[in-house]
Amino acid sequence: MTITEPIVLATGNPKKVRELQEIMDEIGVQIISLSDLGMDLTEPEETGSTFEENARIKAIGYAEQTGRLCLADDSGLVVDSLDGAPGVYSARYSCDIDPSDLPREQRDALNNKKLLDVLGDRVIADRQARFVCAMCLAGPSQGGNGCEVLAEAVGTFEGAIGKPGDVPRGEFGFGYDPIFLVAPEDITTSAELEPELKHKLSHRGAASRIMAHKIEHL
Ligand code: IMP
Repeated sequence: MTITEPIVLATGNPKKVRELQEIMDEIGVQIISLSDLGMDLTEPEETGSTFEENARIKAIGYAEQTGRLCLADDSGLVVDSLDGAPGVYSARYSCDIDPSDLPREQRDALNNKKLLDVLGDRVIADRQARFVCAMCLAGPSQGGNGCEVLAEAVGTFEGAIGKPGDVPRGEFGFGYDPIFLVAPEDITTSAELEPELKHKLSHRGAASRIMAHKIEHL
């Protein structure tokens, strides 16, 4: 199966579209966003208990509504010593309310504060963490009956959560970047990385490259 039509990325974020387009350029695939379709779409509810499940729910949900090839991602932070928390709840770790009710910076700062409080002064070995990004491509089934998953990919970005007093640091990025040490031995936070370098190292960059490889070989 050769992909000749544009793939719809399930996001309204033009930055995510640009980053993915750069990678998909290498295999000659065009990426457009949901807003490019100009359709009235309902956002599928992320009810999964894993990043993979949520990416699948979104990709299938949008493919069914649009009849197009749709690529969705779900990402977050996993802290080993907290049994994987905040995990799929990364965006709303500090609040029970819908995270979209708070401005992003305020929500991110509350999430970071909660995570630093929960980890307290644990040693670095107990602060190991990783960002995870799951991607799913779905489209109309070959048999013409509903939609199906065509490819899936997972990327990770290993690091650790800094100690209170050392972090937050850095002016780039978003979310947990100001408290995420890029490698446990390193003192750089992912918010101190230039965006291009972060994209090269990041979970989203890794998942995108795996997905591009899979799409090329569909
Ligand atoms: P999303 O699935 O990309 O919307 O990410 C969900 C949440 O995970 C975000 O609101 C952030 O809290 C966190 N997250 C995901 N990726 C990153 C990242 O690259 N840096 C910092 N935080 C991230």
